[in-house]
Amino acid sequence: MATDPTATTTAKVSPAAPGAEYADTASAAYRNILGIIETVEPRIADATRKELADQRDSLKLIASENYASPAVLLTMGTWLSDKYAEGTIGHRFYAACQNVDTVESVAAEHARELFGSPYAYAQPHSGIDANLVAYWAILATRVEAPGLAEFGAKGVNDLSEADWETLRSRMGNQRLMGMSLDTGGHLTHGFRPNISGKMFHQRSYGTDPQTGLIDYNAVAAAAREFKPLVLVAGYSAYPRRVNFAKMREIADEVGATLMVDMAHFAGLVAGKVFTGDEDPVPHAHVTTTTTHKSLRGPRGGLVLATEEYAPAVDKGCPMVLGGPLSHVMAAKAVALAEARQPSFRAYAQAVADNARALADGFLKRGARLVTGGTDNHLVLLDVTSFGLTGRQAESALLDSGIVTNRNAIPADPNGAWYTSGIRFGTPALTTRGFGADDFDRVAELVVEVLNNTDPAAGPNGPSKAKYAMADGTAQRVHAAAAELLAANPLYPGLTL
Ligand SMILES: *Cc1c(COP(=O)(O)O)cnc(C)c1O
Repeated sequence: MATDPTATTTAKVSPAAPGAEYADTASAAYRNILGIIETVEPRIADATRKELADQRDSLKLIASENYASPAVLLTMGTWLSDKYAEGTIGHRFYAACQNVDTVESVAAEHARELFGSPYAYAQPHSGIDANLVAYWAILATRVEAPGLAEFGAKGVNDLSEADWETLRSRMGNQRLMGMSLDTGGHLTHGFRPNISGKMFHQRSYGTDPQTGLIDYNAVAAAAREFKPLVLVAGYSAYPRRVNFAKMREIADEVGATLMVDMAHFAGLVAGKVFTGDEDPVPHAHVTTTTTHKSLRGPRGGLVLATEEYAPAVDKGCPMVLGGPLSHVMAAKAVALAEARQPSFRAYAQAVADNARALADGFLKRGARLVTGGTDNHLVLLDVTSFGLTGRQAESALLDSGIVTNRNAIPADPNGAWYTSGIRFGTPALTTRGFGADDFDRVAELVVEVLNNTDPAAGPNGPSKAKYAMADGTAQRVHAAAAELLAANPLYPGLTL
């Protein structure tokens, strides 16, 4: 591990990356922590050290990943983890929850104020859990059945068996409409193998085949026909902004609840890059998110809701969740406090500017992008013009030190496993301090790898996974990537 004591003075410190100012203290803390872990299970201490080295040494372009600050990470490593606190703030099924009450209150307060929401629920353990809480809360609020009207006040535990029987039959046959997986939606938005596609009758909306953009008239027409109870907006791989005011109009017209899943782009909402019609929170009835993607917090979820939906969301535990992860809620509070700093707005703006620089870098080198560009934090490159599958491109890039993930493109000829796209995101490298010129260089390196990669045959003929790279390509690109990484160190000044 590098232990260069001059690292802090030579490092280019991004104004957006928190932690440099307390790097010496964090270094001492981590050295001590790893020393303790070492005495119990050295393989875990080892893997933890190696993970830092690997993250420092690779160009991380996975759109859903980021680097949380040492303050956020250290907050997760405490005895708050040991406390059971099922229930809600001030109303727990366990004794002695006063400190968890403080933790959850502070996290919720920061979330409310940061996003301008009347209510926030900080307990979901992940984005998927946040969506499950939201779906059940929408059902509980919308579906007429005995006991459900009083759900908020009465509590799920007071429903009789007969109430549940009626509930089951009425809750069934509800409809949900979300964005299709191959145009950028998420598996929890009604994809059939996911529970969301089983608990609801589902239909999806896609994008315009010519432009790749959401066609709001088509969404409205589909909604009029299908009449969903829940209209879901939000995405994991759509490289454009969404007009949530229009989505709300459509929802209102057909009597649907608008749920926005901002898991990917919550950082751009928090950083006020998405405002007005592009800010989901004032338009959605219920907004869900992860906290670890562009928001740069710990791995977890959040639900925001209007007054109408808040009482049912607040029953997430015991409806769907068990005991909250108090140590993670504490880290959410720290991350949300960071996101309320002015520097986070500069960070969010840089994330969007950098995505545009990356897209422009691809376009000027002749590559094809889904929708022809980006105006959020991600870029979807169609690799069919390089004669490759997504799987081959992903592997060749990884061999060259560039970490991405393959992703389906609309009407993907290679299906969801091999795919024809590579998804790139800028949140992580922007945290390291990468700027527009650096991202142009990243585009150049990616194109160099793909231009020097060809499909190869397997033992049984043509393969969608096998590939061959021209000699020296991986080494050359690795070296160029190392230069970019050295100029933008991860956790500057942090030494183990
Ligand atoms: C990542 C993501 C999720 C799931 O988050 P997990 O924390 O992995 O459960 C949900 N919805 C969308 C849109 C996502 O991109």
